[in-house]
Amino acid sequence: MSQPGIPVSGGAASGLQAQNGAAPTSGSPYTNGPVQNPLMSSQVPASQGYNSQRPASHHLPAKTALNPISGQSNYGGFQTVSPLSNYQGPGQTLNRPPMASNTITPSLHGGPFSRMPPPALQNSTATPMPSGSFHPGVNLPPPPLNWQYNSPPAGSQINHSPAGSTQPAGSGNTNLTTNHQYISSGDPSLQNSYIKSGSAPSLVNPPLPPTFQPGAPLGPPPTGGPPPARAPTPQKSSHHAMPQPSFSSAANQEATPQFPNKNSKMGRSVGYAYPSLPPGYQNTTLASTTGMPPPSLNYPSGPPTFTQTPLGANHLTASMSGLSLHPEGLRVINLLQERNMLPSTPLQPPVPNLHEDIQKLNCSPELFRCTLTGIPQTQALLNKAKLPLGLLLHPFKDLVQLPVVTSSTIVRCRSCRTYINPFVSFLDQRRWKCNLCYRVNDVPEEFMYNPLTRVYGEPHRRPEVQNATIEFMAPSEYMLRPPQPPVYLFVFDVSHNAIETGYLNLVCQSLLDNLDLLPGNTRTKIGFITFDSTIHFYSLQEGLSQPQMLIVSDIDDVFIPMPENLLVNLNESKELVQDLLKTLPQMFGKTLETQSALGPALQAAFKLMSPTGGRMSVFQTQLPTLGVGALKPREEPNHRSSAKEIHLTPSTDFYKKLALDCSGQQVAVDLFLLSGQYSDLASLGCISRYSAGSVCYYPSYHHQHNPVQVRKLQKELQRYLTRKIGFEAVMRIRCTKGLSIHTFHGNFFVRSTDLLSLPNVNPDAGYAVQMSVEENLTDTQLVSFQSALLYTSSKGERRIRVHTLCLPVVSTLNEIFLGADVQAIAGLLANMAVDRSVTASLSDARDALVNAVVDSLSAYRSSVLSNQHPGLIVPFSLRLFPLFVLALLKQKSFQTGTNARLDERIFAMCQVKNQPLIYLMLTTHPSLYRVDNLSDEGALNVNDRTIPQPPILQLSVEKLSRDGAFLMDAGFVMILWVGKNCGQNFLSQVLGVQNYASIALTMTDLPELNTPESARTIAFISWLREQRPFFPILYVIRDESPMKATFLQYMVEDRTESALSYYEFLLHIQQQVNK
Ligand SMILES: [Zn+2]
Repeated sequence: MSQPGIPVSGGAASGLQAQNGAAPTSGSPYTNGPVQNPLMSSQVPASQGYNSQRPASHHLPAKTALNPISGQSNYGGFQTVSPLSNYQGPGQTLNRPPMASNTITPSLHGGPFSRMPPPALQNSTATPMPSGSFHPGVNLPPPPLNWQYNSPPAGSQINHSPAGSTQPAGSGNTNLTTNHQYISSGDPSLQNSYIKSGSAPSLVNPPLPPTFQPGAPLGPPPTGGPPPARAPTPQKSSHHAMPQPSFSSAANQEATPQFPNKNSKMGRSVGYAYPSLPPGYQNTTLASTTGMPPPSLNYPSGPPTFTQTPLGANHLTASMSGLSLHPEGLRVINLLQERNMLPSTPLQPPVPNLHEDIQKLNCSPELFRCTLTGIPQTQALLNKAKLPLGLLLHPFKDLVQLPVVTSSTIVRCRSCRTYINPFVSFLDQRRWKCNLCYRVNDVPEEFMYNPLTRVYGEPHRRPEVQNATIEFMAPSEYMLRPPQPPVYLFVFDVSHNAIETGYLNLVCQSLLDNLDLLPGNTRTKIGFITFDSTIHFYSLQEGLSQPQMLIVSDIDDVFIPMPENLLVNLNESKELVQDLLKTLPQMFGKTLETQSALGPALQAAFKLMSPTGGRMSVFQTQLPTLGVGALKPREEPNHRSSAKEIHLTPSTDFYKKLALDCSGQQVAVDLFLLSGQYSDLASLGCISRYSAGSVCYYPSYHHQHNPVQVRKLQKELQRYLTRKIGFEAVMRIRCTKGLSIHTFHGNFFVRSTDLLSLPNVNPDAGYAVQMSVEENLTDTQLVSFQSALLYTSSKGERRIRVHTLCLPVVSTLNEIFLGADVQAIAGLLANMAVDRSVTASLSDARDALVNAVVDSLSAYRSSVLSNQHPGLIVPFSLRLFPLFVLALLKQKSFQTGTNARLDERIFAMCQVKNQPLIYLMLTTHPSLYRVDNLSDEGALNVNDRTIPQPPILQLSVEKLSRDGAFLMDAGFVMILWVGKNCGQNFLSQVLGVQNYASIALTMTDLPELNTPESARTIAFISWLREQRPFFPILYVIRDESPMKATFLQYMVEDRTESALSYYEFLLHIQQQVNK
């Protein structure tokens, strides 16, 4: 199939400059012996351009026998740094210090403990590949040009393996201990309140007061077990207050008082034959069609009440009345006629066609979303629809409120380890049926008591059964070692190139400003490493008068000097840390060292952190040139525009291997790349990808020449340093028997069949998985998906965050199409296309994207439409599918015909893999607003601020007019274009200029003027920025500005010299569909 884009060669004018690898200088200032060692203790005069503020330091020749410095080392067997006079120059045979650094058992704060990785993590040398992209050296046979949604790639994992759980067993639900402990830990004021709001401080969502406290303080739970009078069988008194829960059709008639039920099915006694029946809600009659109801999922919009009617009889009867259908959702649309299908407000996800009693308990689509909100009952049906089936997750998102449960018993299915959730069914009050594997489980005694209502015999009203998103405080069974302390290690490039950018000053200042805001507790540890051609450590041992620098110049076999003093307790050594952060930026001010030994520095950092795990933040400004992991420039400017012959795969497996080592030791690596030149992000990015870190890229960062990047880095560092973090995490996604998860997308490592290893988890990371239907779901009406994220909080608590999503099973193609979630589909396809770009080629990926549209619309045309309409007919749910795919083809990851730099393309691909869906869609299909006539009509009111809500416009220059001003919000960047004839009012009241000509060619922010127009515009842009965890740069441009071309590139619907217009694309699709 032909590509929709017309390849255009050339266009890449600026070649890459030579990298710093060819070092012109022979004598690096501080590597060649004592004379050149600038890092003297105070008695040695500075001679190498270090100012007097530098910390006392020692040059530590590699593997030299070191003489102890008295009083400095309490480390058995290890000798600390030698006086400088003992330095032995390079070239001689050096011996390791008496004890190899990697055998060190560090003394952790609470005393030493032996490291016991969870069983699933023990096999740290195994290197199974996640089915994601960036497989170095993998030669796969050329894939077909469309996706075989139904054929999991080799090595696919069957998700549903009941025995495969490698998480530590929860307390079994036969545990009838009566140790009721309903108290949220940590906050005495919340004692007895059972639940508190989660701690989710966030840039986006300011923490609210605890919202889950019931109005009246709860009394203590009954001691010594439930009241005996109520124990044996449920008493009517506990049921009269509310309708009877359904207990499904397998209800135990003897134990459960029955309520009059209009649904005759309900009265049917099927005894205990439940295994032959579908899961809970089996009597639910689903409405036969779905709609696209207006946005109604205001999750989380307020404290959930626990007075909801339990699922059961009520919803069953109610379901008989059918759902009110949104007629719009049933339309078919000829896209060639109705060309503007873009809603003027943000597109809302479709609401699954579930009864409202189920749906109101369902997981928020912001956290958990499926490409199809109606799950095909067979793989054959799914194959016919030609739509991808998968989940998109944002599991650790900052939440305004989060129910947190502290209980000695976490109730889980004994068979498949699913956490009890709103979509299980209670057969009676003592038994519940798992909605994933259908096993019938006992209700533990403790669970019979509802601490919220203080009523015994209400297991179905427990918060675990009322909240699709919930967090558990994990008891000790979930720990195989004591929870690790928060550990933060910063690794700074201090080569000449790095110092030139001026980044170090900003980063150190930001760290100083946020030191007390780093998530942590009294156990928090911190450390620093800098590197150029050598590696520099900093002893911050409590009691030192100033930080002490240690240099290791043997980068071929790095060892760690004085490991116990390099990662130090932040509280105890705070002054030294502050000293170091104040002096660090100046220390290398005059360096001439151009080489970069990034690989050895990472190895050293890994060794330093491996006893504890933690977060490694690496700042790099160039291509690594020395030691292991050294890279060569391989971007060929002439190939930038071509879809072929570009280097999307890593050139070495060093970074991936090291990342896997890191993952095994619970270390995640976040890479901050600040480089104006090609730095081979395809290779470097692996260090973050497989260690569950993240990549941040600031191309052409310079403290003077690029002020917008400076501001961006500053804002994003603020977020990065203070946002929530989870350590030593694992995530597992389970789904109802019959469904199978086979491919994972995101930054992590797949340790065992379906256990994602996440040494760190951050609230800004998204994930995606692909699924198939392994066994027919014909006897099933509902399926569920559950993600469970086990992590250690920065306070040292082991917690489990659980999300459960419930969706209906459908039996017809029409229902599949009606319930399609076009954003989720586009997001999943984008993830798959990144993989395809890497394993095959960019043009293959582009073809596959186009074919995804053609195939699904062909299927719709041939199998759903009864009569042949002219034009390009799509179901309402997919009305934006061609547009979003066209937008993907023009997205930086997949575009052709432009001079996108390779690193920028790779970064865009990293973002596709790691961003939550909402941001991926915004970067793919930006939002365009007219902003010169903002009004308060329809405005939001947020914290007494009025936020205008201008309509979203189609991405076409047709929507622009010269007398207006338009804001393009493309996620990471915003461009405000001012028309030539823009009204004087906007120019003077918002931009603060007299006339159009006086708008600066590069204007990167709006002045704060004392006018209502200015206030409105700034409020709107600030509000857009606050919605996301990163900081979008704002450019204000006019027609003559160099950024105009970038602005126009975002006009997805318009033709460019290398890509089709939306209308042309539709014609192309129509041709293919009608073939
Ligand atoms: Zn189960």
